[in-house]
Order: sequence, then structure tokens, then C-alpha cells
Amino acid sequence: MATWHEYVQKSGKVPDWPYPVNYAKVNEVITDVLVIGGGVAGLQAAINAAKRGVKVAVAERGHTKRSGSGGAGVDHWHGAVTNPCSRVTPEMYTNACYDSMQGWTGGHVRYIITREGWDTLLDCERMGVQIRDVRDEFKGAEFRDDKTKLMFAYDYRSRHIVRVWGWNIKPKLYEEARRLGVNIFNRLMPTALLTAGGRQGNRVVGATAVNTRTGEFYVFRSKATVICTGGAGRLYLFDPEMTASGSMSDLNSAGVGQALGWNAGAEFVCMEGGGQNRLSGYSYAPYSMANAHNTYHGVPIVDADGKEVPWADAFNRPITSQQGRFLPSEGQEFILGEGIGISRYLPQYRNNDLARDLPERIRRGEFKLPLYADLTRLSEAERRCIFGMMVGNEGKTRVPVYITMTRAGFDPDKDLFQAPVMMPEGYAHANFWGTGINTPPTVRGPGGGGFLLDWNLRTNLEGLYAAAGGTIYGGGCHGESHTTGRYAGRHAAEYAKTAPEPLPDRKQIEVEKTRAYHATRQGQGGNGWKEINVAVARIMRDYCAQYKNEATLNLGLRLLKELRETELSSAFASNPHELGRLLECHSLIDVGELVMKSSLARKASNSILDFRRLDYPEMDPPDWNKLLPVRQENDKAVTRDLPLDFHLKAPYAADYEENYQRYCGV
Ligand SMILES: Cc1cc2nc3c(=O)[nH]c(=O)nc-3n(C[C@H](O)[C@H](O)[C@H](O)COP(=O)(O)OP(=O)(O)OC[C@H]3O[C@@H](n4cnc5c(N)ncnc54)[C@H](O)[C@@H]3O)c2cc1C
Repeated sequence: MATWHEYVQKSGKVPDWPYPVNYAKVNEVITDVLVIGGGVAGLQAAINAAKRGVKVAVAERGHTKRSGSGGAGVDHWHGAVTNPCSRVTPEMYTNACYDSMQGWTGGHVRYIITREGWDTLLDCERMGVQIRDVRDEFKGAEFRDDKTKLMFAYDYRSRHIVRVWGWNIKPKLYEEARRLGVNIFNRLMPTALLTAGGRQGNRVVGATAVNTRTGEFYVFRSKATVICTGGAGRLYLFDPEMTASGSMSDLNSAGVGQALGWNAGAEFVCMEGGGQNRLSGYSYAPYSMANAHNTYHGVPIVDADGKEVPWADAFNRPITSQQGRFLPSEGQEFILGEGIGISRYLPQYRNNDLARDLPERIRRGEFKLPLYADLTRLSEAERRCIFGMMVGNEGKTRVPVYITMTRAGFDPDKDLFQAPVMMPEGYAHANFWGTGINTPPTVRGPGGGGFLLDWNLRTNLEGLYAAAGGTIYGGGCHGESHTTGRYAGRHAAEYAKTAPEPLPDRKQIEVEKTRAYHATRQGQGGNGWKEINVAVARIMRDYCAQYKNEATLNLGLRLLKELRETELSSAFASNPHELGRLLECHSLIDVGELVMKSSLARKASNSILDFRRLDYPEMDPPDWNKLLPVRQENDKAVTRDLPLDFHLKAPYAADYEENYQRYCGV
């Protein structure tokens, strides 16, 4: 049978469940380090723990070979500041991020990322990922260093963002993990962390999970656990048909790692922060429409009559040459680059962009829609690098964009590439495909917040570490996720070497097992997982969107609780896949509660967190210029105050490098 349609047409039914189901079977796995989430961060954690000689297992929701946001590739690696061509130091980069965010990002995590990002990229090269122009295709280009054959993006003078041929990065990590003997369990949905004595706040000693094909139950006993599951993409919007093509998120991104930590007693910060989810399915498929940002940075944009849109620097001064788009301007130390997990930039680090008044000029008729990317106006090297090397390696673009367009006859040497046609405000930023103009303002996403980690990338719970982009406070994008995974895996392994045996509480396991299979025992009239997910997202949009107050947040919490106790508790799963998705709905509710409780704790509005309390409208009152770590103790939310620069205060040293030397563990 070749296709789904042929099967359904011929047989008149949908296929039977193709795997043997055995809900009663319990598998016990004993390991030193358990990594939950086998994305780029998770595999790096696993590889680096295994390199230290300990036994490692990975529990992954999809298939580790291609799973996660980074599974389809990468074309530029941020934060490689110690590469031999870089003019930026880890201190400069960390301070630029920290100052741009006015302190609202984890400076220690940023420092670790920049201190080790280049070394991590070299590890990837050793695994078989191409990070240099080894075939001399771009010899002599301004963005290339002819000695090292490295190629750079965004800022050709400062040279800290490396262009890479990363379409195979995930399979290479996967091969390396297997080579090192990592025990990989694909298709698992974790349900809980196990804690010593079964008590919240105690040492983490493993996890339970359900296989979403066979339904079998897994009990992991681990001395150390690393959570690397990414963000919570389905919290404010659930529309898989749209999400499938249009989104930067991953359908498995349901905040499960955060929920596991929250229920075990781990501390989180800035979960009240976020922003409009402009990369939701309301925008366009990633990199599929003309734009001048990120992978396409610097591309000339012309209007329907061929008139070119001017560029401006960070201080809104015109940029007259094409080279100028790739260089810092007067008054700038260096350009940080975009897509690094920060939402604000001081002008001295901000990117060059299209003229900021483009929307007004379109309204006035000065530029006629549609707009187009005119790659023919670029130098040949730049053109081949962008529509070739970059689009050919970026996540989700190699086949859907590069190969499809090329096969259809698109030739960047002579053709124009059309931008989406939008309201003029959609052109306020050079990322036209990822604009939020078509997204309702209530569709938001948590952003910037996550597990609060120390200089070991450990949580407040003994035995529990975390890494990655969307999971932690201070995380970034692709290279940052690899690098934090590498560091956290190393620390988890060292801890595991001397840690006492993990002894899970049998009662906790039994309670968890009963809870995990609850949906398989309900009446078939119950709701399905999609309805529940839609309901969670609706509650979040209505009660915890951009504007909220004490009353809406408390109502939202009540509705989430009722949803859990009524529709979710009577929901039915007819196979292990549906069971996994319903278990994710529990996690989505947990994360929704975490976001609402964090929002209740902050009795002030905050511009950096894009957090607006209608009952506390004053923006950024100085008394609230502090983190509010929140955790659960006996199932009650407990918060405390923490200075923004806690990572440079006692018991830590006041200096980044001194702390790094003290804690890096190499
Ligand atoms: C199209 C696209 C292009 C991008 N391009 C770039 C780029 O060029 N440069 C850059 O710096 N960044 C880029 N990024 C961002 C970058 O890919 C991410 O920041 C990075 O992948 C995050 O790594 P991670 O390991 O934290 O998360 P992910 O790569 O998303 O991995 C998370 C893993 O956890 C698993 N998981 C989720 N839930 C569970 C669960 N319940 N149980 C077990 N496992 C679970 C997932 O299946 C996945 O394997 C891009 C992203 C996208 C989508």
C-alpha cells in the first residue's frame, strides 16, 4: 500500500494500531545519568557524561536521530567567541547580553556558553559536521578567513558567529552517542521525576515514563538526571494543522521537562515573562518567504517596481554600501546577532536592519507591494552562500525550501523571491516570514524563563541538572543548547561518580503508574487530548495573556484545576499515542499553573519581561527589580527574592572567569 489514501480507499477503514500493546509490563533501567529529552542539548549531555566513563540513558519523546528544533539542521552557530578569528571575548559577549537585557538573563549561563561554545563546535567537527569551507568554494570572500577556512555571519569584523554546514548535525550527535554506548530509549513520555522518599524537594533519583507505541511502563533509577526537553510551544495555541508548516516550534514541545521539575520541587524564574508568539502557525513556514534577516541577513529587498529598500544602522543612520550591512557602525563595539534568546538590544550591539520607517513609506506609496528579495544584486559569493550554503543547511529549509524551489526552477542568479503580502506594519522588522502581524495578540509564549541553575547548571534539587534553549533561564539557541548540554552532562557525570545509590520510593512508583494509565480506563465517551489541549490554550489566552490582574489569574488557576478534575480526568486514550498526548496535557496544565503562580508573585509590571499587571500598572518600579524564584513545597507555591546578579554574589566570586575556573569541572 503506497499511500494513506490508497489504504483507506481500498480497505474502507483506518489502519489498526501497529504495535503490540502491553500496559502492564514494567521495565526497570538502572543508570548513572538519565537525560530526559534527546535534542541537541540532550545528546550533548549524554555524550559528555558518557565520555566521563559513567553509564548513560536517554529518554526521548520522538526519535533521537532527528528530533527537536535542532533536528533538521543549522546554518549559523552563535557565541563561538573563542574561535581564533574572533575579536570578542566571553566577558564582552556576556556583558553585552546582560546589559542589553538590563540584567534579566542568566549571566553565568551566558558566560559558560561563550567560554565553551567554540570548543563545543570543534567537538561537532570531530563528529563529522562540516564547519569550514574545506572545498574552498568561498575563497577570498569577505566573510571567510582564508587561513582557518571559517566563515562568519552578521558581523564580518568581529567574527564570533560561525556559518556551518549543519544539515546532518543531529544524526552525527546520534551516531556519537551510540558509539559511546549511550542507552537510547525513543518514543517515551516521562510522567514524573522520582525523589528520595517520594517527597517534593528531595534528591532526584530517577523518573517514570510510558512508551507511546507499546504502552509499556518504564522506571529509571538514576544517580543524576538532566532535563533537556525544550520549551512549551503548545501552551497558548494548539492548532497542529497550522503549526505543522508554519511554526518554529516542535509538536512535542509541551513543557513536560518544566512540569517534571515543578512537581518535584525545582525552582524556576521569570516564568511570568514572555511575548507574542509571533512564530506560531499564524506566520509563514520558516525561511520560506523572502526576507532580509537571519539566514537571509543582508539580502537586498526591492519593491514591485524594482526600487531598493534602504538599510539603516543601529542608530538609524543610513547604510550606503552593501558591505556596511555586515559591519558594526561608528559607536558600536560589535554586533551581537539575533536569535540568541534575548529580547532587547542596546544600540551598541544591535543588528543593521532595513529602514525602520518602511511601514510608513509603504503606506505613503513610496514602496509598492509585493516586496521581493533580489539576490542578483549581491556579490556572487554572498548570493551562493545565502541561497545555497545557508538555506541548504538551516533547520527545516534544506528540502522544503532549497531543494523544492531549485527543482521548481528558481535561480537566484536571475529570479526574484517574493515576500509575504501583509499589512504595512508586518515590514517593521526584516524577518518577514516570522512576523507577528497576523497573530492575535493573545497568542503568547513563555520566553526567557526556566529552571534556575547554579554555576554547575544544577537546579536547587540534588541530582537534577538542566540544559538547553527553552528549558532554562539564560539559555539561547542552537550552539547555546549544545554547549549547556555539554557542561551539564559533564557535571551530572561527576556528581554520579560519588553519589549514593538511587533508591526510589516504591509507593511513589505505584501512585505514578496508576496515574499514568488513568485515561485508558475511562469511558469511551470522554474527551480526547486535542480538545483538552485547546481548552488549556484558551484558558491561558483569556486569563494570562498580555494583560492580567489578581482576579483573572486566580480565575485562570481555578479553571485549570477544574479542567484537570473534570474533562481531563474523564478523557479517554484509545492507544499509547493518545495516552502520551493526554499525559502531555497534564504537563501543560502544570506549566500553566507555574506561569500563573509566577505572575501572581510579581506585583509589578515589567517592560523587559513584557509583563503587564493591570492592578499594578506602574512599569518597572525599582523595588521589583529582582528575580522571584518559585517552587512547590508540599504542593504549595513558595517564592523568595533573588538579586538579578546573584551569579556574581556570595557564595560565588564577583568575577565571571574566577567562577568559571572554580566550577567548570575541566
Ligand atoms: C527551523 C529552525 C531553524 C533554526 N535555526 C537556528 C540557527 O540557525 N541557529 C541557531 O542558533 N538556532 C537555530 N534554531 C533554534 C535551535 O534549533 C534551538 O534553539 C535548539 O534546537 C534548542 O535545542 P534544545 O536541545 O534545547 O531543544 P530541541 O532541539 O527542541 O530538543 C528538545 C528535545 O526534547 C524532546 N522532548 C520534548 N518533550 C519531551 C518529553 N516529554 N520527553 C522526552 N523528550 C522530550 C524533543 O523531542 C527533542 O528531541 C532554529 C530552530 C528552528 C525550528
